[in-house]
Amino acid sequence: MSQFLDHVYIEATSGDGGRGIVAWRREKYEPMGGPAGGNGGRGGHIYIQATNDLNTLIDFRFKKKFEADSGQRGGPKGMHGKNAKDLTLRVPTGTLIRDAETGEVVGDLVRPGQRIMVAQGGQGGRGNATMATPARRAPHFCEPGQPGIVRQLELELKVIADVGVIGLPNAGKSTLLSVVSAAKPKIAAYPFSTLEPNLGVVRTPDGERAFVMADIPGLVEGASQGVGLGHDFLRHVERTRLLIHLADLSSETLQQDIETIDNELKLYSEYLDSLPQILVLNKSDIVTPEQIKEASKQLAKGKTAQRHSPPVVISAATRQGITELLNDVISRLDKLRPQEEEPEIEELPPDERASLRVESGFEVVRKKGVFTVHGDRVERVVAVTDMRDPEALHHLHNVLRSMGVIDALIKEGCQQGADVNIGVVSFTFGEEWSG
Ligand code: GDP
Ligand code: MG
Repeated sequence: MSQFLDHVYIEATSGDGGRGIVAWRREKYEPMGGPAGGNGGRGGHIYIQATNDLNTLIDFRFKKKFEADSGQRGGPKGMHGKNAKDLTLRVPTGTLIRDAETGEVVGDLVRPGQRIMVAQGGQGGRGNATMATPARRAPHFCEPGQPGIVRQLELELKVIADVGVIGLPNAGKSTLLSVVSAAKPKIAAYPFSTLEPNLGVVRTPDGERAFVMADIPGLVEGASQGVGLGHDFLRHVERTRLLIHLADLSSETLQQDIETIDNELKLYSEYLDSLPQILVLNKSDIVTPEQIKEASKQLAKGKTAQRHSPPVVISAATRQGITELLNDVISRLDKLRPQEEEPEIEELPPDERASLRVESGFEVVRKKGVFTVHGDRVERVVAVTDMRDPEALHHLHNVLRSMGVIDALIKEGCQQGADVNIGVVSFTFGEEWSG
């Protein structure tokens, strides 16, 4: 089955939040009014959304890095910066998303229209208008935007079956799949089954057309073992449009066998139960033509006749009737186009790491008496500070102290009068810093 697995690694980076700004109202007789610096806009989120318009993950083999835009910086007159546009990556229905660093499942998009946020955009920083408090009516400082989130993701698509084969154990489901496709399912001599469907690609003799067929075991066995049709199972049959209901002609309880499966189907999946079926009687090689006639006659007046059209007779073992069956399947699939209408978006809850901002630490490096602080957050905070403004500097001092930067500098031997570099800014370590 692994040859049908479509598998890619991508990198998704949400947008940074825009920075806030420091600005002041200008009024006629008041050169400098109250604080009026707007907030920055939010950076773009990254979503992954399932669609039936795609069948493979091939697009991601060529482009692997995706980045959402940053939010705009705040403006004067209290104007907030614009939020960036979110970025939505479209993947085929049935795509499983994992965090490539932890291996954990981020989301499993089994239905078209399902989408999940994989990287949350950074919040915009506050401008000085928003940062004003009763105690500090005119702050000379603002906030940087939150950084975006970089994620390594693994996308995996299991091929989804167009046609499902159902039937009691021993009906010949695995055998049928093995003779019409290159799949090598387990063929048991007596009832045995797992809940994992086997998939095979079936090609027409001219090689022009192909569809995916799944041997769906486990309906009956699952019921008796209390094993439901799990999530993983659902992935494979989500787009199945047609069922082949296989029954063993040599069974003495043929009619009952068919009813059993019909009932199980009803119990187990409303969706599968709603699909059209082709009733197929297998193992024609071990019964006489008279027996086939008799079986067909019985079925025609039995209860199953209301639900099923006249059966197709085959032998999976000798391939008798197989070509006709496949032609029938192809022409039916042509008529059963998948739903075309765009489904509504169904939002799945994001995992924790979609909004996990690693508080990147900082590092103090001392070289020839000059101290340099490296660190994403520290550099962002400094970048939005007006170093000529005493109050802004005071605020920066508080922020740096609460981050532990001041203590770290002192520990490295930084004293009053020493030169300190943070990002693009240089300043002198002053009295107020060391005190
Ligand atoms: P499944 O449980 O429905 O997957 O059934 P299998 O494909 O494992 O087949 C069950 C048994 O029936 C195996 O021993 C097969 O060899 C046999 N079988 C399947 N199809 C035919 C057929 O057309 N004719 C005969 N004679 N035996 C078959
Ligand atoms: Mg089987």
